[in-house]
Amino acid sequence: MLATENLREADRLMTICNACRYCEGLCAVFPAMEMRRAFSDGDLNYLANLCHACGACYTDCQFSPPHEYNVNVPQTLAIARAESYAAYAWPRALSGLFARNGLAISIIAALSVAAFIFGFAALIDPAVLHGAHTGPGAFYKLMPHNAMAVLFSAAFVYAILALVMSVRAFWHDIGEPVGRRTDTGSLLQAMRDAAELRYLDGGGAGCFNEDDRPTDRRKIFHHLTFYGFLLCFAATCVGTLYHYLLGREAPYPWWDLPVVLGTLGGIGLVIGPLGLLTEKAKRDPVLVDQGRRGMDTAFILMLFLTALTGLALLLWRETSAMGPLLALHLGVVFALFITLPYGKFVHGIYRYAALVRYARERRSLGG
Ligand code: SF4
Ligand code: SF4
Repeated sequence: MLATENLREADRLMTICNACRYCEGLCAVFPAMEMRRAFSDGDLNYLANLCHACGACYTDCQFSPPHEYNVNVPQTLAIARAESYAAYAWPRALSGLFARNGLAISIIAALSVAAFIFGFAALIDPAVLHGAHTGPGAFYKLMPHNAMAVLFSAAFVYAILALVMSVRAFWHDIGEPVGRRTDTGSLLQAMRDAAELRYLDGGGAGCFNEDDRPTDRRKIFHHLTFYGFLLCFAATCVGTLYHYLLGREAPYPWWDLPVVLGTLGGIGLVIGPLGLLTEKAKRDPVLVDQGRRGMDTAFILMLFLTALTGLALLLWRETSAMGPLLALHLGVVFALFITLPYGKFVHGIYRYAALVRYARERRSLGG
């Protein structure tokens, strides 16, 4: 007995598709489906996370509504994906809370932490908030480096722990024994497929969004978001090495590596999420999981706000606006961290895990 009504619908659709097989060249979902005759919960969650929501199999399907078979693979797999994030989340109790109130929780967390840092500085020395500070260590006039490091390390470690626990549960449920070494070839193949967003192109034609004309816009905005995020993460790592290995304190000059990486990443994280939000607003409702738009939007919005406040801080860091801007930026980053394990961020991790399994299955068949 499959666990949810939507998984039973996914099972019905995969059974029809397995007989039809018209879409087998569009993406990885259909070849993976063809390797099975029956579908467990784990199989369906695996297929759902292989799907990149390009919409091509809905547009191409001769059995999509109003046909009586009512085949809508993208929407059914989108709902299954969202259910899988909640089903494997750690701790489970928090997933429902975030799924229902993701946007509100993100904004309240960001504003609360910003207000806390602002209040902390006001209590210690109100002049710090309104004065202009320059040179190494200027940021730590608002909040001591150690206090900042403890607050953000705790949020980061919590996010990593929750992500590891949830991916572990997903990996086990899709049929991969936890602890078994995966071959390097499959890991590299999955990395290539993820880096290229290989399956977000509708089999080569492009992605379907608001109508039946395919475009590459979603793929481009996804790329800008993904690489923007990686560049900002790299900037943070380099800044941490500067601080602890070289004894150099932020803020750094505009030409220094952490600032260059952060600026390029920030530009990607402004344009990419804005584009994704625009595409999302236009997207044909028949292709999406309409019940969970809030949590999707929350993650993209927090990425956008992280980049926007970071770039604003870079521009005005030598003025009296530095204090409020830094407090706001840190608040948004904190909210982003604590919501990572329960929002749309996990789709990237689960997709990568599903791509590894797919690459391994193909290799075991000599494909
Ligand atoms: S989505 Fe439609 S056309 Fe494509 S394989 Fe399934 S039933 Fe066939
Ligand atoms: S929506 Fe695109 S990626 Fe998802 S199953 Fe259909 S063709 Fe494959």
